[in-house]
Amino acid sequence: MEDFQIYQLAGQVLGTLTQELNDGIYAELGGELSIGWREGRKFGAYASSSADPAAPIRHSITIYYELVRQVWRDAEGLCEFLRSIPEGTDVDRLYDFYGDREKLPTCFDEDEHVKNIFVAAITWVFFHELGHLMQEHGVIRAEFGSTAEDLGLAADVQDFEASGDDVLAGREAVVSHATELAADFEAMNFYIVELIRHVSDPRFVRIEARTEVLAGLVYLMLCGLSLVFFRFNGAKLLAPSAVVEGSHPNPLTRLEINLPQIHESLDSKLMRAICGHEMDRKELVMLGGKAALSATLYWTMTKTESRQFDNRFLLRGILTNPTVLEYLQPIVACWDEMLPRVLELRRFGTPTGVMTFTKAFRYRIAEVIPWGKGPEGASQASVASTSLRP
Ligand SMILES: [Zn+2]
Repeated sequence: MEDFQIYQLAGQVLGTLTQELNDGIYAELGGELSIGWREGRKFGAYASSSADPAAPIRHSITIYYELVRQVWRDAEGLCEFLRSIPEGTDVDRLYDFYGDREKLPTCFDEDEHVKNIFVAAITWVFFHELGHLMQEHGVIRAEFGSTAEDLGLAADVQDFEASGDDVLAGREAVVSHATELAADFEAMNFYIVELIRHVSDPRFVRIEARTEVLAGLVYLMLCGLSLVFFRFNGAKLLAPSAVVEGSHPNPLTRLEINLPQIHESLDSKLMRAICGHEMDRKELVMLGGKAALSATLYWTMTKTESRQFDNRFLLRGILTNPTVLEYLQPIVACWDEMLPRVLELRRFGTPTGVMTFTKAFRYRIAEVIPWGKGPEGASQASVASTSLRP
């Protein structure tokens, strides 16, 4: 596919979403959402708001052409890489843990694999920016971060590939990470609702094929999401760290925090009633783990200096990693502090889009109790470690 065709497709997909939001919730609120495109070789997107909570809502999302171009090329690269893994090798056998060695869903053809990864990834990025806007994170960062002198820029929230610009640290980094995770949470909520609406419509998906198509789309979406996170991470180390620094969370940590939200939502009674899929919790968890494995294999074996897969990068659930639990301590405290203001500013959206931490999860974070050391006992160490909502 030529670059200009990628831009056209992205324009159609995100233009339609913007239009639907304008005809719906933004019209109801007397506000407006616009989408803009920018040139320049940056892998990024940003959200801008008129920022005055008392004024009519003027939100805009800007996406770099380079972002959509790169997402498409990464999706192509990933699919080609997965198809070329030789049978019976060590890498191939890693898939046995997830039940089978099928690396791309057979209900789609090769073109559809790339297209579905692409559409899912750019839609998620769009929803992530929308998440920043819904909760007016520009205002939140100005009020709670330490750079009060930057108030003039409070309206913009930027998401870019790590570029060696100012590296955030301390309070500013914690506020930034917390709002990034909160925008992820809104994005995932939006995404799942849209996905379920799509697969539950018999005009798009035959009822008999619903579970298979849903599983395929969730898998491809998570592949796409992982690729976006790796790109945003830039050249930084992939190993999780307990220190909150920079503007964005580590991509693997971010994935591990995002995954349970998918399991929780798709496993909920409501979603089952709407969509009637047949995946149980374990299958959903396996699906997420397999997608993350595929993306991480591709990234570590083709994009890093060592070109080697390292099993430290296998996702095992946030609870299995004490480092991640420690990392979350200041984030949870900061989110608790900001939440009343976030809810005051939040423009729209269902309650399920607001990031919450359960009591049990909070306790494990505070006391750093990894999976196996809590009430579940050591015998179940490898299963269901992702079942708690962050
Ligand atoms: Zn962001």
